Amino acid sequence: MNPETPAPPAAAPPGPSNFIRDIILDDLKTNKFQGRVHTRFPPEPNGYLHIGHAKSICLNFGLANEFGGKTNLRFDDTNPCKEETEYVESIIDNVRWLGFDWEDRLYYASDYFGQLYEWAVQLIKSGNAYVCDLSSEEVRKTRGTLTEPGKESPYRNRSVEENLDLFARMKAGEFPDGSRTLRAKIDMAAANLNLRDPVMYRILHAEHHRTGDEWCIYPMYDFAHGESDSIERITHSICTLEFEDHRPLYDWYVEALGIYHPQQIEFDRLNLTYTLLSKRKLLTLVQDGHVRGWDDPRMPTLSGIRRRGYTPEALRNFCGSIGVSKTNGSIELSLLEHHVREDLNKRALRVMAVLKPLKLIIDNYPEGQVEEMDAVNNPEDASAGTRKVPFSKVLYIEQDDFREDPPKQFFRLSPGREVRLRYGYFVTCAGVVKDPATCEITEIHCTYDPATRGGNAPDGRKVKSTIHWVSAQHAIDAEVRIYDNLFLKEDPNETEPGEPFTVNLNPKSLEIVTGKLEPSLAHVQQGGLYQFERLGYFCVDPDTAPGKPVFNRTVALRDTWAKIEKREKAK
Ligand code: ATP
Ligand code: MG
Repeated sequence: MNPETPAPPAAAPPGPSNFIRDIILDDLKTNKFQGRVHTRFPPEPNGYLHIGHAKSICLNFGLANEFGGKTNLRFDDTNPCKEETEYVESIIDNVRWLGFDWEDRLYYASDYFGQLYEWAVQLIKSGNAYVCDLSSEEVRKTRGTLTEPGKESPYRNRSVEENLDLFARMKAGEFPDGSRTLRAKIDMAAANLNLRDPVMYRILHAEHHRTGDEWCIYPMYDFAHGESDSIERITHSICTLEFEDHRPLYDWYVEALGIYHPQQIEFDRLNLTYTLLSKRKLLTLVQDGHVRGWDDPRMPTLSGIRRRGYTPEALRNFCGSIGVSKTNGSIELSLLEHHVREDLNKRALRVMAVLKPLKLIIDNYPEGQVEEMDAVNNPEDASAGTRKVPFSKVLYIEQDDFREDPPKQFFRLSPGREVRLRYGYFVTCAGVVKDPATCEITEIHCTYDPATRGGNAPDGRKVKSTIHWVSAQHAIDAEVRIYDNLFLKEDPNETEPGEPFTVNLNPKSLEIVTGKLEPSLAHVQQGGLYQFERLGYFCVDPDTAPGKPVFNRTVALRDTWAKIEKREKAK
């Protein structure tokens, strides 16, 4: 760049185009919100965040970042029964991990309880709300159906004075749970059921995680949500499609109150194949012990995938690639895995590890000799340098890399066949030793060609396969946790009538093996990311203790042979 050219102003790169972005561009053009873009991410603290939430987080923060706007983190904590501080803390931690910053704008809907109460009183005064003595069952029964209008409550025409008195006494704790509600007075014949005198407040003598026992009446979601958006002067209130039918009510409340009116916009929820994205169902998995906890690496929670070694960059790239639309669909889990591999390929250090060990003895290699072989740490990143890997007479190789009777397209080691040992020598299989009782192969014997050190033959002869290995005397043992999909069905909710979704759990979603690792892995740091050559990406689990490394398989590499074999079997 010409040194005299001023640098362009720092601007976020344009985000992926989508219909919400188009709406914002349009609003900026018409100056609808005086050029402001202010979004929020509003989780209910009743569970851990999952990959679906990541889509919403990336969308809300991404759009605001792009247009120089702001995003609030707001806890939608209006339901005292299911909410816990543990969830609040995990949510804060995970949004930060994903790479987003709400600066000083961390809010709680419960902070607005006082304002919401005043607004409810205002609606009573303007004849737009009334105290109803029907039970929740009776309210439900008189609501009508899509084809029939509802019935008006006998309490609908109470005087403003009586309503004000009763509502104040509800707040003061005079009435038991469920005995009365405050309802908006809209239209019991409205085509949209949400407008048939919806409940605004219910009585609940329950301890709230932040307000304690200060309140015994709590606002319903629909009343609290839009009003919280209004208080925070949100411009674009982005939520998932199931709230589309709630938008008329959202609009009705802010109009009836005459307060600042944000624009609600709905988009499609993320669904992923082989994955459940519902806090309620994930809670069942935790409570019933199907997984080790919310952060079990098989869980689709942000805490789970993070422990499994997924990176925030990979997740953000995935969220950017899936688009935003007005129709619910399902995204392939393999797309997420693709983004994880793409990202880890750039940053993970390559090492050699054998997970299902088989002994390989080089008969003509000098007893007691050890050579230090040069190995590349990351072919994608020259600055990662090289390391030394010890080579000796007795090695471990992967059981899968040997076949006594090789099928046609199997090019790895087999009797009489020569292969390359990565960073080592060419070896030729001379024979096998079997356990006489089980007939299982216990050792493979090979000869090596000393002229092929480093992996090339001076006479130019080629081998069809390169396999990895670990020197037996130098190997360190590690617990390696190999994960598979948590569910067997593409749609884990697909069950026979009466069956719980848990029938679709994959009984083999976790396999634990003792791997043999190259000695450079003796002192790994928690969270460290590695590629075990030819096997996949692995990360160091927090269960790691000095001398006892524990690894999680983040994602396998694409294994061409496994694919061929699967295809053959399917024939
Ligand atoms: P769940 O059904 O898992 O409990 P939720 O929608 O009740 O999800 P909230 O805590 O209310 O969870 O969600 C916070 C925000 O995240 C909301 O704006 C919601 O629309 C969004 N969100 C939740 N699940 C998804 C998903 N699968 N895809 C996209 N956005 C989602
Ligand atoms: Mg919810």
